[in-house]
Amino acid sequence: MTSDGGIQIPSRLPLLLTHEGVLLPGSTVRFSVDSPRNMHLVSQRLLKGTSLKSTIIGVIPNTRDPEHDTDDLPTLHKIGTAGIAVQVVGSNWPKPHYTLLITGLCRFSVSSLLKERPFVLAEVEQLDKLEQYTTPATSGASAEDGELGELSQKFYQAAVQLLGMLDMSVPVVAKFRRLLDSLPKETLPDVVASMIRTSNKEKLQVLDAVSLEERFKKALPMLTRQIEGLKLLQRTRKMSPDNEKRVLSVRKGGVFPGRQFNLDEEDEDDDGDDITVLERKVNGANMPEAALRVCLKELKRLKKMPQSMPEYALTRNYLDLMVELPWSKCTKDCLDIRAARTLLDNDHYAMDKLKRRVLEYLAVRQLKTSLKGPILCFVGPPGVGKTSVGRSIARTLGREFHRIALGGVCDQSDIRGHRRTYVGSMPGRIINGLKTVGVNNPVFLLDEVDKLGKSLQGDPAAALLEVLDPEQNHSFTDHYLNVAFDLSQVLFIATANNTATIPPALLDRMEVLQVPGYTQEEKVEIAHRHLIPNQLEQHGLTPQQLHIPQDTTQDIISRYTREAGVRSLERKIGAICRAVAVKVAEGHRLTKTETSTEIQQQQEGDKAAPPEMPIVIDHVALKDILGPPLFEMEVSERLTLPGVALGLAWTPLGGEIMFVEASRTEGEGQLTLTGQLGDVMKESAHLAISWLRANAKTYQLTNMVGGRDPLEGTDIHLHFPAGAVTKDGPSAGVTIVTCLASLFSGRLVRSDVAMTGEITLRGLVLPVGGIKDKVLAAHRAGVKRVILPKRNEKDLEELPANVRADLDFVMASNLDEVLNASFDGGFPGTSSSHSHPQLSSKL
Ligand code: ADP
Repeated sequence: MTSDGGIQIPSRLPLLLTHEGVLLPGSTVRFSVDSPRNMHLVSQRLLKGTSLKSTIIGVIPNTRDPEHDTDDLPTLHKIGTAGIAVQVVGSNWPKPHYTLLITGLCRFSVSSLLKERPFVLAEVEQLDKLEQYTTPATSGASAEDGELGELSQKFYQAAVQLLGMLDMSVPVVAKFRRLLDSLPKETLPDVVASMIRTSNKEKLQVLDAVSLEERFKKALPMLTRQIEGLKLLQRTRKMSPDNEKRVLSVRKGGVFPGRQFNLDEEDEDDDGDDITVLERKVNGANMPEAALRVCLKELKRLKKMPQSMPEYALTRNYLDLMVELPWSKCTKDCLDIRAARTLLDNDHYAMDKLKRRVLEYLAVRQLKTSLKGPILCFVGPPGVGKTSVGRSIARTLGREFHRIALGGVCDQSDIRGHRRTYVGSMPGRIINGLKTVGVNNPVFLLDEVDKLGKSLQGDPAAALLEVLDPEQNHSFTDHYLNVAFDLSQVLFIATANNTATIPPALLDRMEVLQVPGYTQEEKVEIAHRHLIPNQLEQHGLTPQQLHIPQDTTQDIISRYTREAGVRSLERKIGAICRAVAVKVAEGHRLTKTETSTEIQQQQEGDKAAPPEMPIVIDHVALKDILGPPLFEMEVSERLTLPGVALGLAWTPLGGEIMFVEASRTEGEGQLTLTGQLGDVMKESAHLAISWLRANAKTYQLTNMVGGRDPLEGTDIHLHFPAGAVTKDGPSAGVTIVTCLASLFSGRLVRSDVAMTGEITLRGLVLPVGGIKDKVLAAHRAGVKRVILPKRNEKDLEELPANVRADLDFVMASNLDEVLNASFDGGFPGTSSSHSHPQLSSKL
């Protein structure tokens, strides 16, 4: 190919007929080809050839409409560009085609066609001399005199001007800049024409301009037009670098593979209509007078604003939101108390007290629609159905439901929005929620109000107050909207794990409904009535395919979960469903080994058979799927040494059993406490020790060597295991006393006793809170006897009958009674019950 230093294209070239795009020398264009001739050319020539020569093809623009492409060869354009195929990519999707990346070398004209099939081969004549392109810009050809020299100089300067207007930090622009100086000037018309925004027709004109002079003349106006366009753009748009980059949007084709400058002004044609549409929407949004006035004002400003102003987008977004808000759209309440009761009952097992209160609330609402009553707040451990009751309420009312998670919200603008002067300002969650549901009377569930945070950005609780206050919320003003929105039709329901951390002012507005944890039996019922059917459905299974017997459910509840609610129970059932879904999907391909454990044991005889339906989850299968049990009944094991007692604690996650351990060593009477304790707990420990010391004689308590003072020459260590959880509160008092009494007397505490209660220095037992959750926890743990403060007797009524029947309650008013009930056969000294005749709680 090389002769005398110049590069020559072969005299016979296969021709690629292209519909899209025009290849000019010096540029690289991507072509997608799928016509039979072109496909043959690629497969037989480009993909088979091995020499450089075989990659050179002629590209001829085919101006004929591709729709009417027929088998016979169209009349070819006379001039084309020879190019090197630098990349060939084939694909079968959506139909077989190749994508070619071709770099243009030089013009040629077609002398004669040699063959038409399978691809076009032609005798061609090279028009541009390739050696021209290798001559540096400074020498020879460019230094031409006369009109051509002038033209090329002018063109060069225009190109420099164009570059000056572009952002050099864009790599494509920087590359163009480098190329501009290193390329010979006579190649510029081709290069520039392929780079700036030109139509195919214009490119064709440049291609057809064989004489250099003519080429410059054709391309120059295109370049000047581009510069003018850009100038106009810069004038109207105060160009931020971002805008500039946007203008240089990368398009298909161009000098650099796959890239092209798009320097055109953006289309602004339908903008006028757009605003008219918006205006119509504003007028039709049925908003109150004040809001409408603001919108019309903004609309007026918008009309005057050039689109390129950043404020344009802001105002536009604002108006879009205003139009979308449900100012007067609402759903009609369809409340039928009887139907509501059925629905609540169907959706939820147990929780009778809560359901009763909810029905009362709904009934009152029905009688008096403009009810300004308190906000209901469901308080209870996770997974007890608070959210799901909220959802049911929405359903019974026929209203939309929206959940607003408040956990971790510590900025008041989360609730009330940012002022529009901020960059990236947004409306708050309330307004956003209204936009989402599209009606102004939804049920909003404010989830986890007890997890609201506080920060420098203001107190979100204060903002919530305004939202929830029936006196104020008819004109709630979101900072972003800056006009009042009437929230009085929204039904708010709140949920929390713990009332202690709800800001008091907020708590004041709410009616707290406790949702305690479930008993084992309730959980079994919930599992079989709700969770299992739901999970089966979610996993595409039917009861004919999977059966979980009650025994198994009980096993899951007691050995794989330890919670007040049913959330992890639901997850475990989900895990079983997934495991079974795999088996069902595998169907008859089950192997022998797989069947033997998973499926019922009786299948052993028929090992190669598909799993028998339904797959029954027994204990073996359960262990296989969920792994070894996470919780064992550890109570009796741990109470095998003196100095251990079982207490009951309340946490926001429900009741818990809590071990208290004590040990003594020789020392100087020091007390060590470990296990993340709060101050109140430490005080209880000191109280307990003081009381035991004072009564050591009565109870025959001794130190390690049998001395009368249990603390003499002895160090005591009290430990509350599960150290990750901070424990505080007075309710462990009785447990500490019992634990120490056991240590000092060397006797074992009964292994099936758990207790709770506050103590006084004089040995009284005072009432404590959270009795229901605590007793349920004891019941879960398999405890038989529960010692409670006498004054908590009334709380027993809340317990389910079966739990009450299962447990033996000892209602103690003083520590004497506690110790008596904690040790088998009573505690020494109790026979002389006259020792505390004066003790009876007056509190
Ligand atoms: P919470 O909001 O209290 O944390 P959820 O409402 O998310 O709990 O409940 C968790 C899951 O337990 C849900 O799938 C819910 O349907 C189910 N669930 C909880 N309590 C009951 C119940 N009493 N009857 C039926 N399903 C329940």
